[in-house]
Amino acid sequence: MFNVLAVMSLVLCAAMVALWVRSYWTRDYVEHISPSTSVTVKLREGSVVWLKIEMSSPPPYGWEIGSRPISAGESSRDVINTPRLLEWEFMGVRYAHVRPTNGQFTLSTAAVPFWMLLCPTIAIPLLQVMRWAVRQERRAARRAVGQCAECGYDLRATPERCPECGTMPQK
Ligand SMILES: [Zn+2]
Repeated sequence: MFNVLAVMSLVLCAAMVALWVRSYWTRDYVEHISPSTSVTVKLREGSVVWLKIEMSSPPPYGWEIGSRPISAGESSRDVINTPRLLEWEFMGVRYAHVRPTNGQFTLSTAAVPFWMLLCPTIAIPLLQVMRWAVRQERRAARRAVGQCAECGYDLRATPERCPECGTMPQK
């Protein structure tokens, strides 16, 4: 009934739900620091947040993966939660771009809510279940009028085996 894609979707879906819940009580992040740019992807209160800061950063450069405890007042300090700086928002997807006049850094940040990321992972298995249900219904309807469940061929003369596709009807 399910193919590999649907199973993978469900696994992905379960993993995202776990991260979603986790995002409310921890700050998991992946950060890449180069001499001129720092790019971070982090979990934050029901959203995945991407943050890019362009400025000269000190070493160490490279990748960092970690988890920070939530500090008090962090939400209010976050650029993405500052309405004044928010440039674009649609259905919980937010984007902000900040360039202070002193020109020392440029900051771009975007947030996508977890529920939106979950939609496609739920849609694929759901579609397959629906297709399976429709197929079952069609097979039952064909059987009811003496047709082959698979191809619809009239089986009243040959009830043992479909001469068209070879299917043996289950009794
Ligand atoms: Zn048939």
